[in-house]
Amino acid sequence: MSDTDDRLERLGRRVAELEAERELTLRLAQTDSLTGLVNRGAFTAALCERLEAARRDGRQVALFVIDLDRFKHLNDTLGHHAGDLLLAEVGERLRADAAPGELTARLGGDEFALISDDPDVPARAKRLLAKLSQPQTIYGRVVSPGASMGVAVFPTDAADASDLQRFADMALYRVKTRGGRRWSAFDAELRAENTRRQTLEAELRRAIPGGEIEPWFQPVIDSNSGRIVAVEVLARWNHPEQGLLLPGAFVPIAEELGLIGQIDEAVFEIACARAAPWVAEGLIESISCNVSPRDLLDPAFSRKLIGRLSRTTLPATALTVEVTETFLLQDFALARRHIERLAAKGVRIALDDFGTGYSNIRALMSLPIQTVKLDRSLIEAVGKDARVSKLVSAMLHAARALDVRIVAEGVEEEGQALFLRAAGCERMQGYLFARPMPAETVEAHLRGSPLIDLAMPSTAALARRRRA
Ligand code: C2E
Ligand code: CA
Ligand code: CA
Repeated sequence: MSDTDDRLERLGRRVAELEAERELTLRLAQTDSLTGLVNRGAFTAALCERLEAARRDGRQVALFVIDLDRFKHLNDTLGHHAGDLLLAEVGERLRADAAPGELTARLGGDEFALISDDPDVPARAKRLLAKLSQPQTIYGRVVSPGASMGVAVFPTDAADASDLQRFADMALYRVKTRGGRRWSAFDAELRAENTRRQTLEAELRRAIPGGEIEPWFQPVIDSNSGRIVAVEVLARWNHPEQGLLLPGAFVPIAEELGLIGQIDEAVFEIACARAAPWVAEGLIESISCNVSPRDLLDPAFSRKLIGRLSRTTLPATALTVEVTETFLLQDFALARRHIERLAAKGVRIALDDFGTGYSNIRALMSLPIQTVKLDRSLIEAVGKDARVSKLVSAMLHAARALDVRIVAEGVEEEGQALFLRAAGCERMQGYLFARPMPAETVEAHLRGSPLIDLAMPSTAALARRRRA
C-alpha cells in the first residue's frame, strides 16, 4: 500500500468517526439522559412536524401530557436516587406501551408526553393511565405514585402546536387541582376559561398604556411613635367594567404574558412622581416598590431601574426595592449583581415575604440586604402559637445583632402589634394601621389629617395592660 493510500484510508476512518460522533452528539442533545426518551426541545420540534403532516393528510393527532401525582413526596421521603429510578421506570412503561408511530417524551421533572394518532382518545388515555398507575417496587418498597393526564386534539381543539400544548396543559392543571389520578380532555369549560384569559390579556395590554393601572400606597408605621415613616407601593387596576382589581387578579397573568415589566415600570414612574415631594418635605423617609422575580432575571434590570430612577426627583437613598427569596434562589449570581449594583447607588433592598420559603439566612447574610419583611403568615400566629412567638422574637433579636431592620407585614390585631413592639420590632404594616390607599388619601394623612386607623396604643397604655 502506498503512503497516499494509507493516508487516505486513515482520513476516511477519521471522517467516519467524526460522523458517528456528530450523530451521537445530536442524539444526546435530543434525548433525556435519565429515561432515554425524547427531551422537550426535540419533542416540540417533532410535534410541529407531525401536525404539519397530519394537516396534509387530514388526520387527527392527540397530545397527552402526563404528570406524576406524588412524585415530590416520594422524592423527598425516599431520596433522589429512588426518584430517578421511579422516573426511569415511568419512561420505560411509556416506551413499552407506545404503539408504532407514537412518540413519547420527558418534558422535564416528572412531566411526560405522548403524541398519538389513535382515533379512540378516551380508550388510549385510560390504557395509558392504567399502565402508569401500576405499583412499582423501589428499594423493596411498593410505591404507586399515580399519574394525572391532560389531552388536547388537533385539529378539533387547537390548530397549532403551541395552542395544543397550552390546552393539554390546561386540562392537566384542572385534573391536578381536583386531586389528580385521572385524565381530562380539553372541553367547553376550558375553552371558555381560555377565552376569558384572552380577553383579560387584550384588556391588560390596553390598560397599561391607557393609565388604568396605578399605584396605591400602604403606610409603614414606626412602632414607637405610631407615625407613618414609609409607604409600600401596591399596584391597582381601575378596570372600566369590573372596577378596582387587586394584583392577585392580574399580576400572575401579566407575569405569564411577559407584561409585568411594563406594569412595574408604569407603577414605578407614577409612584416616584407622587411620593418624591413627600420625601423632599420630610413627610416620609422612603418608598418601597415590588419587583417581579421575572424582571429580575433580566440582566439589564438594575441598570434600567437606576436609569429610570435618575429621571425622577426621588433620591436613590429614599427607594427600597422589595425582592422575594424565590428570585435569589433562581439565579444567585445574577441576584447578587443586581443587588450590589443597586446598593452601590444607595438604593435599599428588602427581602419580602420572609418566613414563607427557605428563609435562607446564609444567602441573606452574604448580600447587602438591609431590610427583611416578616410575612403575614408568621405575624398571624404571633401571640397565638407560642413557638411562632418565640421564633419571631429570636428573629428580631438576631436582626438587631446583624443590623438588619425588620418590618412586620399584615399586622391586623392590636395584640400582635403589642407583642411585636415589646419584642423590639421597629416597623409594622397592616390593616390595623392602614390599608393600601390612593395617593390623595395617603397625602392627606401625611399632611396631618388624622389617620383614624392608626390605633397604636401609647406606651402608657401598654404598660397598664402589662400590669393588668
Ligand atoms: P406583598 O408585596 O406581600 O404586599 C403585601 C400585600 O398584603 C398587599 O396585597 C397588601 O394589601 C396586603 N396586606 C397588607 N396589610 C395586610 C393585612 O393586615 N392583612 C391582610 N390580609 N393583607 C394585608 P395586594 O396589594 O393585594 O398585593 C399582593 C401582592 O401583589 C404583593 O404582595 C406583591 O407581591 C404583588 N404586587 C403588588 N403590587 C405590585 C407591583 O406593582 N409589581 C409587582 N411585581 N408585584 C406587585
Ligand atoms: Ca412587598
Ligand atoms: Ca410581602
